[in-house]
Amino acid sequence: MNLSTLLHETFGFPAFRANQEAVCRAATDGRDVLLVMPTGAGKSLCYQLPAIARGGTGLVISPLIALMDDQASKLTAAGLKVARIHSGLSREDSRQACRDYLDGKLQFLFIAPERMRVTGFPEMLARRKPSLIAIDEAHCISAWGHDFRPDYRTLGDYLPQLRPAPIIALTATATPTVQRDIVTQLNLQQPALFIHGFRRDNLHIEVMELSKPQRTEFITKFLADPTRRPAIVYAPSRKAAEELAEKLNGTFKAAAYHAGLDPATRERVQTQFLSGNMEVVVATIAFGMGIDKANVRTVVHAALPASVEAYYQEIGRAGRDGDPSRTILLYSYADRKMHDFFLERDYPVATDLARVARVLNEDFQSPEELRHRLKMDADTFAKSVEKLAAQSAAAYDMGGNVRATGNHAWQSGYELQVQHR
Ligand code: ADP
Ligand code: MG
Repeated sequence: MNLSTLLHETFGFPAFRANQEAVCRAATDGRDVLLVMPTGAGKSLCYQLPAIARGGTGLVISPLIALMDDQASKLTAAGLKVARIHSGLSREDSRQACRDYLDGKLQFLFIAPERMRVTGFPEMLARRKPSLIAIDEAHCISAWGHDFRPDYRTLGDYLPQLRPAPIIALTATATPTVQRDIVTQLNLQQPALFIHGFRRDNLHIEVMELSKPQRTEFITKFLADPTRRPAIVYAPSRKAAEELAEKLNGTFKAAAYHAGLDPATRERVQTQFLSGNMEVVVATIAFGMGIDKANVRTVVHAALPASVEAYYQEIGRAGRDGDPSRTILLYSYADRKMHDFFLERDYPVATDLARVARVLNEDFQSPEELRHRLKMDADTFAKSVEKLAAQSAAAYDMGGNVRATGNHAWQSGYELQVQHR
């Protein structure tokens, strides 16, 4: 069947987005694929449609339960037969999923990577081979990436017995090193490479110098405007996340999310956030990988992110629906000093996030290139950072204490302007 017709009939989308059709074509034809596209660009479709077009069962390996659940419920809503196997489900559910798989009843089977290490499981899959294998968030396989998961590491060992299915590896962040690593680890055969730009025109990126004690008040006031929600606020620690969530909760519905919470609570917060019942999540970095919530209007960093790649991923969760969205990074001289100390060698640019913000609004092909460009200019920037914009206090109604870069950028489009005090 024609892929456009299939797209329309199965998902109700009128057209492919940029690049999707070429990717779907390659995978449908049975080629291995490495797909690098920005968060929110629509990567899932690039394995889902080919799996449907090829018939049989598409096997999807995904690192997070929430991610699996999200994709599975969308596919089920589209009328497809889907099963999941992960630690959050009962043993009987898993058995049933295996039976359905072997009976050829499933169009999609989602599994966690660690499942492959369960004795007999890969052999079970091999008894009735999948028609396509998708590895979502494929950068997790690489120790060079920022999100390495040991469970991904051994995946490559189990794939040969599941062939000849094409393997499609998907990620939003992959430096050339990570890309090479993905291809090697998964042993992709002459893969079709689709590496696409990272520009997000609808994101307005601001960096604001604000001392720690002022941040809670700023965030409360800023998010009090309902057009700025739903929002994700990244906090530096579990404790900070909880304290901030509690304070915000007086003004609107907010909850903390971090790896120290029990799974049921985490699950509940995620579900409420996805369904719109929770307006603000105050999270540590544990939150968000691959989460597809289209209408996040604001991402606030109440502390410096760990790296440029992490920053890019985190702000990338805003505005997936394409509507204008804001990201605001709050920092102070004290944070910068700390990062200088810990990160100077590995992340020469972590100290220079205002510059990152500016460059992110320009075109660049990869995080690697971004890093390279920033590194070259780091000295110049270090000198000018102290001169960065005052302004914006009035706009945020925060009195004379606030200095900000980016308010001008918000009003005029993108380019952040360096302003002198
Ligand atoms: P990614 O995995 O690249 O971060 P997703 O696959 O989660 O992004 O897709 C982001 C959103 O875009 C989803 O809500 C999805 O339904 C939507 N989407 C994908 N492709 C299309 C399309 N061709 N037309 C309209 N919406 C699309
Ligand atoms: Mg995705």
